[in-house]
Amino acid sequence: MANNLLSINDLSKKDILDVIEFSNNFIDDEGNFRKENLFPDKIVANVFCEPSTRTKSSFAIAANNLGCSVIDFDIDNSSVQKGESIFETVDALNLMGVDLCVLRHPESVIRELAECLPKMVFINAGEGSISHPTQALLDIKTIIDHKENLDGLNIVIVGDLDHSRVTSSFVEGVSNFDLGSLIFCGHPEMCTKYQNPKIGKYESHLESALENADVVMALRIQYERFEKELNLDLETYKSEYQLSSEKLGSAKGDAIVMHPGPVNYVEITEAVYDSENSVIRQQVANGVAIRMAVLSRFLGS
Ligand code: ASP
Repeated sequence: MANNLLSINDLSKKDILDVIEFSNNFIDDEGNFRKENLFPDKIVANVFCEPSTRTKSSFAIAANNLGCSVIDFDIDNSSVQKGESIFETVDALNLMGVDLCVLRHPESVIRELAECLPKMVFINAGEGSISHPTQALLDIKTIIDHKENLDGLNIVIVGDLDHSRVTSSFVEGVSNFDLGSLIFCGHPEMCTKYQNPKIGKYESHLESALENADVVMALRIQYERFEKELNLDLETYKSEYQLSSEKLGSAKGDAIVMHPGPVNYVEITEAVYDSENSVIRQQVANGVAIRMAVLSRFLGS
């Protein structure tokens, strides 16, 4: 395994399955996270240069559960606001003895940082619209929890795919498996990168895409990443692409519904979010276990 987790492509299929299996050790029979004092001498810095709820908190909780000291780096009150670059900022943390940096950044800076600071371990917690490897790991774990295996599954991803780092890392991760099918669906202007994908296919009609689906992942519109104003009629959008109970009726009865959060109830109805098919809240919990496994692997190597 590489020294850093910059992309899901840094992991082989075996690595992915090992991390997922390892993560299961951190959840007890009642679903609580085990607290293990495995790394009392390690310092982890959470450096988030974009908003986050689940990823940031779950990395902090995971690091605390492993006995690490955690620095919840507050970018808004840091010298970045005085014009300092991310390079000097992270180097300063490195000089102060931080062992591992969990980084979320709107731009692709993590590779260069990892090259410049080889003593520090870097874990990518979201790189612009490019990648989000730990999300892919927790998504794959959630699917395995419910379906045992990814082989043969029909998976549909619907929403604003062009801006979705969740989609790109998920696709890289699941390309290790022998899926039944992988269908990309959404407004054509939000799926330009997925019209002729390397794996899977694009289908503009959601009900057709959902036929026989085992796994459905819905994604919000990432307004913050659009370069020009989005002139969208939300009601038309919802009628075509919102995952409703009626549309979900085309999928298999035991299909699972996933969403990385935050949920806006444009891309999915509250009824589907709350339905028996929804595993969205389990994804959140799996995020802690996966991040405990990832931190253990990369702090221990
Ligand atoms: N939380 C996910 C991300 O950070 C998805 C989203 O923001 O819509 O990419």
